[in-house]
Amino acid sequence: FFSNKTAKIFVAGHRGLVGSAIVRKLEEVGFTNLVLKTHQELDLTRQTDVEAFFALEKPHFVILSAAKVGGIHANNTYPADFIGINLQIQTNVIDASYRNGVKKLIFLGSSCIYPKFAPQPIQEDALLTGPLEPTNEWYAVAKIAGIKMCQAYRLQYGWDAISGMPTNLYGPNDNFHPQNSHVLPALIRRFHEAKVSDAKEVVVWGTGSPLREFLHVDDLADAVVFLMNKYSGLGHVNVGSGKEVTIKELAELVKEVVGFQGDLVWDSTKPDGTPRKLMDSSKLANLGWAPKISLRDGLVDSYKWYLENVKQ
Ligand code: GDP
Repeated sequence: FFSNKTAKIFVAGHRGLVGSAIVRKLEEVGFTNLVLKTHQELDLTRQTDVEAFFALEKPHFVILSAAKVGGIHANNTYPADFIGINLQIQTNVIDASYRNGVKKLIFLGSSCIYPKFAPQPIQEDALLTGPLEPTNEWYAVAKIAGIKMCQAYRLQYGWDAISGMPTNLYGPNDNFHPQNSHVLPALIRRFHEAKVSDAKEVVVWGTGSPLREFLHVDDLADAVVFLMNKYSGLGHVNVGSGKEVTIKELAELVKEVVGFQGDLVWDSTKPDGTPRKLMDSSKLANLGWAPKISLRDGLVDSYKWYLENVKQ
């Protein structure tokens, strides 16, 4: 993958949190031939459009980072979108990639593919060993199908499709929607707005006790390039930071980074979701990759990005 910097690479979903970080990384390491299409230019849920795009462009490599994503509330509210759109996007892109001579593809999922009560830290082989967390099972089922599709194409056709499963991600180009985003961007925005309006308190969802692992998206992008270069196995690969915090600890840290002086109030009518989901990323570590960005540094970076882009 690394040997030819003029190879044509299609990054699907290049405007999102993950795709935009991957584009920054690829450009940083010298790739010059990226194919990028906005949602308006190419709707990945439309099979004939995707097939026509691949037949015309014939990319050498594909990074599949396009997906319908959202936090706990969005997953609960739009189950049809989360399963339907994701199945359409990934099925179209994976199949068209294979049929049009793509050399290698990486499919990206999420740690929610694992059973709700998987032993922690969660190893790759915990997949499909128990029931999923109900608040995001629709998304999870689509992502599990994507992993299995990559495996099936490898087994049947000998095609080099791999899958990476990142933990909770955050960073530039995150979704800061007050209801539909994930916890970390939601808290950055809420604490910031409370600070500028001199509010006395900030409401945080749930009990604060769930544990979550966070990875800065620039670390993920680095891992994706690493995997494209070094890994061609059947099994999917976890990509985590190995560090977990409670939602309460996260809220305190965001409060400090943003500089909000008031109190935290817990809204226990909101769901906690899964109690804990720490991934075991030793498979990736054994291949020779390690994350570099601490949660505190990453939060400072994310808040800075939010401040610079808040008007949009
Ligand atoms: P999850 O990791 O799939 O559960 O997704 P989220 O990032 O949406 O939520 C993680 C945890 O943070 C859950 O326990 C939420 O209840 C909690 N949380 C606290 N405040 C918020 C908030 O403002 N937005 C979101 N999305 N989650 C919050």
